[in-house]
Amino acid sequence: MFRAIRPVYLQPGLGARVQREVVAASEVAPRIMAAMSSSAELVRQARDQGTTVPKKPRRRTAVVACMDTRVDPLRIVGADVGDIHVIRNAGAVVTDDVVRSLIASTNWLGVERIQIMMHTDCGALGLTRDVAESKLGAGAPDLAGFVSTEDELRKGVERLRSEALVDASKGITGSIYDIASGEVRLVVS
Ligand SMILES: [Zn+2]
Repeated sequence: MFRAIRPVYLQPGLGARVQREVVAASEVAPRIMAAMSSSAELVRQARDQGTTVPKKPRRRTAVVACMDTRVDPLRIVGADVGDIHVIRNAGAVVTDDVVRSLIASTNWLGVERIQIMMHTDCGALGLTRDVAESKLGAGAPDLAGFVSTEDELRKGVERLRSEALVDASKGITGSIYDIASGEVRLVVS
């Protein structure tokens, strides 16, 4: 019998450094068992998404969005599985890996237009280096947080437009999804 429904390293309220210490102090076996249990649960809950989904997105569109639970890019833009590419990370920040994905998306997978969709009340807003270090200690990595959602959005659009290998012939735009109202505001057209 293993007891860890919630792995010790995911206990809320514990700082990352403390959690690392907890993991280091815990036995190896229960942690592995918990991970296997969690994976089995994910597989058990998997849903068939059908066999007719095209490899290339039908709408020839990619959306860069935040990982926030309140943001469902497919639902927000009225898309179905197979319609668009969705590239997500914390904040919908245009990182090197987003650029990498969009190079593949626009050169091999038929995508012609890109929209960066940030949102209100984002957890990455205000996640500065100082805030990161206050939680994680000196030398914490740059988490690519921002202090202005609109400024970061414009910066992201500008970066994508300047990337020669991102071939979005129909354009790159930027919008902000309002969590409270459910509306999307086009900021960079
Ligand atoms: Zn967010």
